[in-house]
Amino acid sequence: MSLNSLPLNSKPLNIRIVLVQTWHPGNIGAAARAMKNMGLDQLVLVDPVDFPSDEAYSRAGQATDLLDNARVVATLDEAIADCGLVVATSARERSIRLPAFSAEACGREAVARQAQAPVALVFGRERMGLHNDDIQRCHAQVNIDANPEYPVLNLSQAVQLLCYEVFKAARAERPTPVEEAYPLHADLERFYDHLGQALDDIGFLNPAHPGQALEHLRALFRRARPTAKELRLLRGVLSAAQQAAGKDQSAG
Ligand code: SAH
Repeated sequence: MSLNSLPLNSKPLNIRIVLVQTWHPGNIGAAARAMKNMGLDQLVLVDPVDFPSDEAYSRAGQATDLLDNARVVATLDEAIADCGLVVATSARERSIRLPAFSAEACGREAVARQAQAPVALVFGRERMGLHNDDIQRCHAQVNIDANPEYPVLNLSQAVQLLCYEVFKAARAERPTPVEEAYPLHADLERFYDHLGQALDDIGFLNPAHPGQALEHLRALFRRARPTAKELRLLRGVLSAAQQAAGKDQSAG
């Protein structure tokens, strides 16, 4: 297959680039161009500071169609609700530890997984990166290797490099995922809500610090990566516990 024929001539990749609260519209335009150069077309903007803007359009080159079609949403949850694999991108170690991918592995994994459900690559704010709250919603994180003394890339250049890894992986034989699909983000969040409610119902949560136990449990489930089937089983367990405690189980 010729170098330039993929992934553009094959089925479009179901991989979206999610930019969280981008401050500089020029970065949005440059990210759109980086995506189109690499054959990706799904741009989602979470609460951008300044968009649409002339600056974004002037930096997009011939990728203005991506800006026209960009989906603007208020929260990260909305951006990834229907996604399976969700990857956080970060220039540094985070207090929340997620399984780490190299940039190459991220490209391969994203291409393999997008056959099952949309994949999201999530990019942070120019100054603050991703907040812990954002990271908690992701399955894995990717660090682009760089000079340890200055590993922070410009946002759109980080987008460029990861889109290139996706492009390379797509050009290679498309691997068929052998593992079970990631559950959809919205289903996971519903499970966490149900878990919180059930733990409250059975008197497990310390009312003074309800969030702490839940955060640890979220970390456990992130590591365990339950399948959609296992999530249904777990929700059954929660409902039974709620029923045994004499509580209404409609919360989930
Ligand atoms: N001061 C912020 C840097 C944000 S740079 C911080 O410490 O997190 C803006 C965004 O570009 C980051 O949130 C991330 O999405 C991406 N980025 C920059 N450098 C990166 C790198 N080396 N690896 C992966 N993503 C990177």
